[in-house]
Amino acid sequence: MTTTPAPGILRLVRPDILAMLGYEPIEPAGLLAERLGVPADRVAKLDGNENPYGPSPRVLEALARFDGYHRYPDPEQRHLREALAGYTGVGPEHIVAGHGSDELIDLLLRAVLAPGDRVIDCPPAFGMYGFSARVAGGETIEVPRRDDFSLDLDAVRKAAGGAKAVLVASPNNPTGNSLRRDELDALLATGLLVVVDEAYVEFAGDSNVSLVPQRENLVVLRTFSKWAALAGLRAGYGIMPPALASLLMRIKQPYTPNVAAEVAMLASLDDRDRLMESVRTIVAERERVRRGLEALEFAQVFPSDANFLLVRLPGFEGLHVRDDLARRGVFLRYFDTERLRACVRISVGLPDQNDRAVEALREQGGSRAR
Ligand code: PMP
Repeated sequence: MTTTPAPGILRLVRPDILAMLGYEPIEPAGLLAERLGVPADRVAKLDGNENPYGPSPRVLEALARFDGYHRYPDPEQRHLREALAGYTGVGPEHIVAGHGSDELIDLLLRAVLAPGDRVIDCPPAFGMYGFSARVAGGETIEVPRRDDFSLDLDAVRKAAGGAKAVLVASPNNPTGNSLRRDELDALLATGLLVVVDEAYVEFAGDSNVSLVPQRENLVVLRTFSKWAALAGLRAGYGIMPPALASLLMRIKQPYTPNVAAEVAMLASLDDRDRLMESVRTIVAERERVRRGLEALEFAQVFPSDANFLLVRLPGFEGLHVRDDLARRGVFLRYFDTERLRACVRISVGLPDQNDRAVEALREQGGSRAR
């Protein structure tokens, strides 16, 4: 933490905030393509785990028809929570919707963490957990996953005494594996607030939502960003014990999600059968990409229940692979951590984009052999 006084207006800022590094988001594809001189139609944007098929046509129609953009949304989210209750099978009193599930992560951590309080993070994990914990004035205790990316439950139990919450994604980003039921039971038995982030669950099938009404320390987070292709609108929600839901409703900004996100969520739920068809297409395509990557032999592909694959390329630097492929218009995600240094993550795109990604990786392998 900085000891010299910050200059100018920054002297008024919290020292821990001044010392913080920002969240590392993905760059807009258009900007990256322009910088690299790649024509827009040659871009395969496979770095953000987005849905390449786009929203339901009913969403676009409903947004065009909607005549209430000049009004604030219902701060109680009555209609939306009812619809989400129908979708998830729990009562609306368990549900809070937000500006993406990122808002729910932020709200939960701000509600729980006093300055210096800690949450358990199990890397490789979604970077937002540590980021939001630090913005809330808290800290993380890192309990790395095992080699197969399952949780190190003994280490979690040991760390639990010094923490208030544990956050895990299922399926996990960026590794793709789901939380096993015995792992969830062990987390719940610690008595910590257990946040299971199911951003990708529609690609996996098995949700833990139905357990929420039976447990007092379980929160499940969900989003429309992935299965319903609404990432740009920011539409997420959490399912939690009613006491916690009322508390979050009390401390959240009153008018999130915005009316457009609300209209889009309702229309997506009305058209869920069609959207789930594109989810099945993405899952089938993920397995086709896996086979393509496995045929490269030099690539180790990790099992995935989500809409992306984590691939290890021994002997390669993920950063260099990312840069080389970006110059060819194939955008992948790399990771700036020791453990994932040789890895890239490939989101499942349209079939021809996926083919280009596999082909570009094949050529990477060939260039090393020469
Ligand atoms: N959780 C996980 C595990 C994610 O990977 C993401 C998106 N990258 C999110 C949450 C964020 O979802 P949303 O768009 O609803 O904020």
